Parts: sequence; structure tokens; C-alpha cells
Amino acid sequence: MNAGHHPRCVCLFTDDRRPIHSVAHFIVRKDDGNPRQEGVSVVVVMAPDATEDDLAAVVDLVRVAGGSAFVSRGVSRTIVGLVGDLDDFAALNLGSRPGVQRVMRISVPFKLVSREHHAQRSVVRVGGVPVGPDVLSVIAGPCAVETPEQTLVAARMAKAAGAALLRGGAFKPRTSPYSYQGLGEAGLRILADVRAETGLPVVTEVIDPGHVDLVASYADMLQVGARNMQNFALLQAVGESGRPVLLKRGFSATIEEWLSAAEYIAQRGNLDIVLCERGIRTFEPATRNTLDISAVPVAQSLSHLPVIVDPSHSGGRRDLVLPLTRAAIAVGADGLIIDIHPNPKVALCDGDQALNEADVAELADAIAVLSALMGRTLAVAEPAVVS
Ligand code: PEP
Ligand code: MN
Repeated sequence: MNAGHHPRCVCLFTDDRRPIHSVAHFIVRKDDGNPRQEGVSVVVVMAPDATEDDLAAVVDLVRVAGGSAFVSRGVSRTIVGLVGDLDDFAALNLGSRPGVQRVMRISVPFKLVSREHHAQRSVVRVGGVPVGPDVLSVIAGPCAVETPEQTLVAARMAKAAGAALLRGGAFKPRTSPYSYQGLGEAGLRILADVRAETGLPVVTEVIDPGHVDLVASYADMLQVGARNMQNFALLQAVGESGRPVLLKRGFSATIEEWLSAAEYIAQRGNLDIVLCERGIRTFEPATRNTLDISAVPVAQSLSHLPVIVDPSHSGGRRDLVLPLTRAAIAVGADGLIIDIHPNPKVALCDGDQALNEADVAELADAIAVLSALMGRTLAVAEPAVVS
């Protein structure tokens, strides 16, 4: 094994150039067929010059603390996988023992939303509409609720595109305080009226912990936007709301931070969470954000929660919505959330990325063909919802 360098951390590699953390994951993955190694949560990397006594001391300490230690010997370095209680291991202060080079926690910091403890992928129901592994659930509608007419026409367009859920912002989290901030409760009333008219359950954003009860009294699903992904008070409040939550990934959040944010919601007793990849900020200015398409299968492998994609906020351009939609379905996304507007030119929010009437027909075709190709049926709103 060799030690290599990365600008931000020291990386250790095995003799065949695999980073140590992937060895650690390998140990965890092997659990499926091998209960002996189940639950490896810490890996101790011994220094190249560690002695057999150093190694034996580590193994003894772990065993005395009630844990199990599994020794794995490389040509020039030895690693020890620990099974047992993380807090007990922390108290051993193994990092400062002779012959120990590094101690790494490898279990994920998000337990409730993790797939490690819940292998089967979850289905979240939103006003009766399933979001999960066997279906493709499309959420569509205007970025912002502007008028009753605009919202109703957009909802009908959404339905024609194959949407089972209506999106629309009443409280808008705008980067500039001079931009359109939304209609507030009046917007929520419009959404409720349009739901009654079209039968589409409503997904809408909440930006303030103090508004959660109000928004939950109108909405079928609460959206926590990218700008609020680490608003922990808001995450806890939606966790107590009794409503399913759409959690967008922050534009500079790692997947681990995103799932840890979901854990805040889950910890308050709400496991009805749908994750949404909506693009991250990179060096590339040609698109509003860079759609991190890999995040979909990565999040699905780490978490049992459904993962959907927002091709509208990812690209920020109307001409990219269809190609990114195709990519999302092909990569295995569980759903989509798409901006639609009857007249994007006069939209008060995000008109550049909103689909118009002509685009919607093309979108409907792509969704129908590709969902079938991926073995998913298109989720539909339950007729019973219509009042
Ligand atoms: C939105 O969906 O309207 C929105 C503001 O999205 P994001 O939080 O992903 O920017
Ligand atoms: Mn928007």
C-alpha cells in the first residue's frame, strides 16, 4: 500500500491503487453474504512500520470494549475493521495508539434514511399518488403562482404532459429581495382551487418554519428548496408537519449533506421524504446549474428514499428541459419536477426555463416512451381526489 496526496486530504491506497475507503465499503458490502463482517463501522489503518504487538494491542482494546476486530493484511500495511458501538470505539482513542496511522468512520451518518438499515426502496404517497421504484411520477406547473387563470391553464398543461402532481410556488425564496416574492396565502388558495378543478394534488414550497402549519393546511406535499436545504429549524418543522416533503439538494451540498438534511426530517418522525436533484453550482456558466446525473443512482444506493430530478432548475434553459428529462428517466430517476407556463415570456419567475404549450406535447411523448422503456408506469392522480 502507498500513501497518496489530494489537495484536501491524505488518501491511502491499497497495493492495487484502490483507495482505502473503497476497501472499507467493500467490507460493508460483503455483509450481505457474510454475517461475520456485518456492521463494520470503523476502519483502523495501521502504519507501515506497526509491529505485531501494536496490532495485537488494538485488537485487544476493541475486544475488551465489547467490539469485534477483523484484521486484513496487505503486503505492506494492515487494516482492522471494527464491529460494535461507535461511541465505545471513540472512547478508546485508537488514533493515538502506537502503530496506528489513521482511524476512519465508514458507516453513514444518516441512519433513518440510509439503505444500510432499510434495503428495500421506499414508496412515498402524495395525495394518493405513489413516488417510488416502479412508477415515474411527474410533478409540473408554474414556478410561481401568479393568477388563478395562469395556474389553472398551467395545471391543465401539466396534466397533458403526464403529470400526476401540480407544482407552484406561493412563497418564493428569491435570491434578490427585489424579485417577485409570491402571493403567499392567496397563492395557496389558488393552488387549492386548481386542485379541486383538476384533481392534481399540490406540491408547494415552504420557506419559514413559522409558515409550516399554514402551508401544510393547503398542500399535499411541502417543498424545501435548495436555498433552505440546511435550514435545520425548517427541516425539523416539516418533519413534524405530517405531510410528505420534497427535499431539494442545495446547490453546493454534497450528497452526504443532502442525506443528512433528510435525516433531520426523518428524526422528527417523518419518513415520507422525496429527494430532488436540481443541479449544483460548478465552474460552467453555460447552464444555470450543472445537473449532477450521477447523484441519482448514488443517492438511490445510499438511501431508500425516492429520488427525482428537476431538469428546469438544473439547466435553467427551455431547450435543455427535454434532453435532461430523457437523461433523468434513463438514469433511473423516480420522477421529475418541471416548470410549465402558459406564456413564459411574461412569467414573473423563471420564464427562461418554463415549457410552453408546444413543448408540452413533446415532453408527453418522451415521458410515455422512456418510462415504458425503463419498466415504469406513469403515476396518475387518483380520480377520487377530484371534488
Ligand atoms: C423552485 O422549485 O421553484 C425552486 C426555487 O427551486 P430550487 O430550490 O431548486 O432553486
Ligand atoms: Mn423556479
